[in-house]
Amino acid sequence: MTPEEFRAHGHTVVDWIADYWAGVEKYPVLSQVSPGEIAARLPAHPPEQGERSADFSKNMLADLDEIVLPGITHWQHPQFYAYFPAPTTGPSVLGDMLSAGLGVQGMLWATSPACTEVETRVMDWMAELLGLPAAYRSTSAGGGVIQDSASSAALVAVVAALHRASGGQVRERGANGRFTVYTSTETHSSVEKAVNMAGVGSAQLRVIEVDDKLRMRTDKLAEAIAADKAAGLTPALVVATIGTTSTTAVDPVRVIGELCQANNIWLHIDAAYAGAAALCPELRDSHDGVELADSYCTDGHKWLLTNFDCDIFFTSDRAALIGALSVLPEYLRNTATESDAVIDYRDWHAPLGRRFRSLKLWSVIRWYGAEGMRAHVRSGVALAEYFAGLVEADDRFEIVTDHQFSLVCFRLRGEDAANEELLSTLNAAGELYLTHTRVRGAYTLRFAIGAPQTTRAHVTAAWATIQAAV
Ligand code: PLP
Repeated sequence: MTPEEFRAHGHTVVDWIADYWAGVEKYPVLSQVSPGEIAARLPAHPPEQGERSADFSKNMLADLDEIVLPGITHWQHPQFYAYFPAPTTGPSVLGDMLSAGLGVQGMLWATSPACTEVETRVMDWMAELLGLPAAYRSTSAGGGVIQDSASSAALVAVVAALHRASGGQVRERGANGRFTVYTSTETHSSVEKAVNMAGVGSAQLRVIEVDDKLRMRTDKLAEAIAADKAAGLTPALVVATIGTTSTTAVDPVRVIGELCQANNIWLHIDAAYAGAAALCPELRDSHDGVELADSYCTDGHKWLLTNFDCDIFFTSDRAALIGALSVLPEYLRNTATESDAVIDYRDWHAPLGRRFRSLKLWSVIRWYGAEGMRAHVRSGVALAEYFAGLVEADDRFEIVTDHQFSLVCFRLRGEDAANEELLSTLNAAGELYLTHTRVRGAYTLRFAIGAPQTTRAHVTAAWATIQAAV
């Protein structure tokens, strides 16, 4: 494809995306296809001849309309309230297009200096915007890097913690069942996965009970740490969550951080969803104690207007991270790396190759400004408050947990079966999409607001649909 052919097809594709966004409300939010239905509509074998014609994008988009769209769950629909929403935005997609167009690999500073230096500066901006500690800035012993996901952030936190706890020995000898990791019953499953991948051993994972507000119990954590030390094990890592996946509970980070410091344990904070709240000074209480953490992450691709993948990860101890991950084969050696004057982000995560992901974050920050990003978060919180008020006014329903961010957990009073039926009726109708969790054993519906295009009118309509489906 020549640059001129790309220009012509590119305009057609951008028009298609803009039309899709403008008309997304006409689709059922949740895809209604059966397993195998989409695959069956595709040719069984790849084409031998290419389609190098002026009709390429037209034909490709016709197939997208007919074959692909029925199998799409519309995450950008204003009535998408499932999981945590993952809104994309115009500036984010434009930044991502530029990244794809430049097509650079930023594994080393030397392989594209701007890819590293823009990312470093944008991550320093993010630390500033979120009011995070100076220890996370590139000018300190720490720094920020974009990971693909909070799951990868958890993995690098585990390996950095093991590296520090073992004085670097884990690289040679493995964990050998000597190190323990602490989470709560509400911690996201990605941490258990990371613990397994890093070879800690699931027998060394301590899952701490939560209190009546679903926060990690620090008395139980202290007991578990003491018991492990008495047994000759080395506590290496605690993962605290700001905004748990089920209910957005916030662990007592300050007390956990003090315990970690007293016991020389790495503290990782998973704020995958709720980190965005820290943009707003009035919501920063949720981040009390964050300066005691050795690492922290939040997902740009959840509540921060940036399309997947964009996990914003900080550490205050980059030496531990780099010590755990750095391997320098001959073919990557270069004078910049050896001068020690540059950051090579290949040492900050599992993959070697890396895209120019900071372009989309830069584009989002430029378009919205701090003010616009805060307005987005505040709108989600206000809409959740509004929705909670509607639920409270109907005696048939109950609110199950606190709702300090943009998620409301609610249920029909009474049996689980009625709630399960309500959810499946709602999702089959296609007007909105909700998912569920269990809170203290009870089947609970989650109403998670996140799309910038969701308005009060959408929430009012959603509530009317829910009431009518009972
Ligand atoms: N941590 C928390 C608290 C989450 O809610 C989620 C996803 O919802 C994750 C981690 C995993 O996020 P990712 O898909 O970025 O790995």
